Amino acid sequence: MTSSRPPARETRPATPRVREATQVRPTTEGWTQQKDAEGRPLLQFASPKRGKPPVHLADLTPAERIAKVKELGMPGFRAKQLEKHYFTHWTHDPADMTDLPAAGREEFVHGMLPPLLTEVRRLETDRGDTIKFLWKLHDGALVESVLMRYPGRITLCVSSQAGCGMNCPFCATGQAGLTRNMSAAEIIEQVVRANRLIADGGLGDPRRVGHKGERVTNIVFMGMGEPLANYARVMQAVRVMVDKEHGLGMSARGITVSTVGLVPAITKLANEDIPVTFALSLHAPDDELRDELIPVNSRWKVDEALDAARAYFDKTGRRVSIEYALIKDMNDHAWRADLLAEKLNARGRGWVHVNPIPLNPTPGSIWTASERDVQDEFVRRLNDAGIPTTLRDTRGKEIDGACGQLVATEDDERVAAETPLEA
Ligand code: SF4
Repeated sequence: MTSSRPPARETRPATPRVREATQVRPTTEGWTQQKDAEGRPLLQFASPKRGKPPVHLADLTPAERIAKVKELGMPGFRAKQLEKHYFTHWTHDPADMTDLPAAGREEFVHGMLPPLLTEVRRLETDRGDTIKFLWKLHDGALVESVLMRYPGRITLCVSSQAGCGMNCPFCATGQAGLTRNMSAAEIIEQVVRANRLIADGGLGDPRRVGHKGERVTNIVFMGMGEPLANYARVMQAVRVMVDKEHGLGMSARGITVSTVGLVPAITKLANEDIPVTFALSLHAPDDELRDELIPVNSRWKVDEALDAARAYFDKTGRRVSIEYALIKDMNDHAWRADLLAEKLNARGRGWVHVNPIPLNPTPGSIWTASERDVQDEFVRRLNDAGIPTTLRDTRGKEIDGACGQLVATEDDERVAAETPLEA
């Protein structure tokens, strides 16, 4: 609460726009929490049963690839050739693979690299430096990815599930529920297609020099889905991303796996021995609000999630990111910045940094971004408390391509229905 007489140790004037007294809550603003049979917040951890996508090279270990190649009547060394075409030249077109025998080539390539994603839409913004893709999967499910060029890096935000079962009230994807888990290869194919587009000069101004040899350098699992709810397939995809000999050969440090706080899976991730960057989407430092804002908090509380994040740092030595969507009058209060700093500092120094991001409003909803001075105050308080904090930009906002914004519209569904699957 603000008071007319600040305490003696207060050296800065209270910021008039920090409205300590205003507290907007999802439930009081019309959000109804769906409940399961036991009266707990509804969460979908298991993927609904649907036809599985065809098995693809990227779903398999190197040994399994050789076995499958042999099953298709080819000698085992052809697996290596296919890996080269797919992971280095980003092609699945048999016409490009002249080192394979012409007889039976089409069937063989189709058997190992079946089509997984059909491009339905491509939206560009930031003068071509940000591109959102809408993909249709083999069963008609829709997912999206967003490609962003920054100085010195190219980041792809990938989807790991069609829809999401975590039901966060501010998130467009969460409102649509979980359609199904994506396969490892469906995740990898998003990267391969992005690399193909970059190689063809499709990202940014083609007249700009220095495009040669560019490819996706950073991956963020912040598209559709809760990655740790699809753990095994996400980890297979990560292994393929970092494999220098049989995969994309990316740096693990450039890969960010985020979660809303599935604590047992965070512990498992810490023990994987792949030092990816780990991000915890916290969005509130107090259970009272977080129970409403992130329904999974009903299973694992703020302190448990923070303990797991700290343990991730201890195990991997990788600094953890805390993601915090700033929502006007909901979670952007100065006292919450102070409480967050207190909880992080209580777990030691130098292990964490905070990325507040102004929420992108869900169309037609009450959810809106904090005002600029409130954002600045939130960041200042954390930094003053010794927590490195950087306000993240909202690239892709114009095309609904920022986190929590990836959801197919009715118009997307209509266009998708008219788009035949790639053969
Ligand atoms: S914010 Fe993330 S975890 Fe929550 S519903 Fe949206 S996609 Fe799922």
